[in-house]
Amino acid sequence: MYGITVTENLKKLDELRLKDSVQFSYALQAVKAELDTHYLTATEQQYLDLLIAYDLTTRGDFNTALDILESIDFKDNSLITLRVIGLKVNIHILSYHYLEAFLNVEQLLTALPTLTNDLDYYQVIGQVILLFNNIERYDLTQQLVERGLSLSKNESLSCRLMALGLQGTYNTAGFDTYITKFNEANTLCEQTAESVFQLLIIRNHLFYLLEQQQYHTVLQLYHQHLPQVQDTRYPILSAGFNAAAAEALLHSDQLQQAVTLAAEAERILPTDRNDPAVLVTYRVLYLLAKQQGDFQQLLQYADKLRQTEVAIAEEKASQQLAYQMASSEARLQARHIALLDKDNELLSLERNLYQQQAQNRNLMLYLLISLTLMLAVLAYRGIKGSRRFRRMAEYDQLTGISNRYHFNQQATLAISYCQKNQKPLAAILFDLDYFKSINDKFGHAAGDWALKQVVKTCRHFMRNSDIFGRIGGEEFAIVLPDCVLSKAEMLAEICREALETIDTEQYDHQITITASFGISDVSQSGYDLTELLADADKALYKAKRNGRNQVYSS
Ligand code: GH3
Ligand code: MG
Ligand code: MG
Repeated sequence: MYGITVTENLKKLDELRLKDSVQFSYALQAVKAELDTHYLTATEQQYLDLLIAYDLTTRGDFNTALDILESIDFKDNSLITLRVIGLKVNIHILSYHYLEAFLNVEQLLTALPTLTNDLDYYQVIGQVILLFNNIERYDLTQQLVERGLSLSKNESLSCRLMALGLQGTYNTAGFDTYITKFNEANTLCEQTAESVFQLLIIRNHLFYLLEQQQYHTVLQLYHQHLPQVQDTRYPILSAGFNAAAAEALLHSDQLQQAVTLAAEAERILPTDRNDPAVLVTYRVLYLLAKQQGDFQQLLQYADKLRQTEVAIAEEKASQQLAYQMASSEARLQARHIALLDKDNELLSLERNLYQQQAQNRNLMLYLLISLTLMLAVLAYRGIKGSRRFRRMAEYDQLTGISNRYHFNQQATLAISYCQKNQKPLAAILFDLDYFKSINDKFGHAAGDWALKQVVKTCRHFMRNSDIFGRIGGEEFAIVLPDCVLSKAEMLAEICREALETIDTEQYDHQITITASFGISDVSQSGYDLTELLADADKALYKAKRNGRNQVYSS
């Protein structure tokens, strides 16, 4: 009897969690105080731990939450287990550990065929959809949403799933299809009183309407939902609504009101998260400063706008990179893993699933993803200390900057980002002069020390968004997003001078460290890493031939 009551209690708490996280937190403290944990069964203890971890996560205490989740000792593939993994995914996303997030996602996806209850499906797969939205894998999000909707017997879950699918619809299906789906989701969320979800999709809707220059509709929706928004007290909602309305007012020549709303948006803006609301707020503040001819503010907001754009692009790039790493690592290790029993299990799972769903060929996509990710997990588990292994795989041991492989990946992402957004980009290649003679005269250790000093010196002058890699023994490359040739030349000149003046006395030797630089940019070479590096290399060769310790452009 007692056991049933405890489980029922926990279930009630769990339901409360979805509705009101603050009330949930209080209720959880009360339950914890009342319960004598010695008498809990293993399952009850797991359930309680899971709820405690949820609470800690909402309060931002990720480390303690993860510790608790790691200590949950599960042997089965039960729902609690899947939810533990789901929460881990969530925490890894919140703390920007995307590789760990994707590795955990795999486990969730392999459980996909067993998730036939709609609530279970939503609780486990909801986070996965969010993550795939972030990396713009809309093919996958749409399928996961569709599957969830086909299971769903609950309108409030359907509202949430549809809400998660709208970003993909907007970006892939055209505005008319999007509008139909938006209206459907909006109505459903309204009917089921899912007000936070409803307001979130309306907020995003306002951003899309701005892109479509439908300013009148923006203002109409803003006024209609403002009281509800204020009730929620969520900064990303209220800042987003205010900023969107401010931009619509600006375009409708209602400058004074626009200024008021934009200032309000800035006041409540969350600064710890790369949210689209931040982008829209700085964009409208920038446009307003421009309109008013306030140059000091114009510069200030231009800078903030650019920083936000770069931060969002970087976050997305690192998520995409993590996703690629999780799958490419899998490919590398695939041959070894093929011997493992697990692989056979997966293959038979694949076969069964294929038979069941032969008519739905696209479902294979899930399986492909889950298969490669599963292999990645096994590969990582096989190597002790996965974090150390990852660092080794990405960064150069001696200097700590990206190795050639990681540099190429990051640079390729940066190049495609700049191409998409029509931004300039430049590349710098440099090679140390007569480095062999440093080794010969002072020994290899001195050479190593010099390499470290070179990296330390140049890194000092770079922005966070610049990508710096050691691509050969004493050869380095820098990719500079959003940077024109002349600025890259300036940076190279600064580095060149700084290397010349490295104080080698501290190493007890009078060593001369210089380097030759070659520069290229997309206006000459196009948005192509190989071309950029080839052209920079040609310029570098000229610098060498004409006496070294110089900067040349392609
Ligand atoms: P230049 O580029 O000006 O033509 O002359 P160089 O001496 O730099 O030319 P080269 O490319 O022939 O020699 C590069 C040397 O760098 C060879 C190798 O001994 C040294 N080197 C490469 N990697 C390392 C390293 O990790 N540590 C040390 N100490 N030396 C390295
Ligand atoms: Mg060389
Ligand atoms: Mg050299």
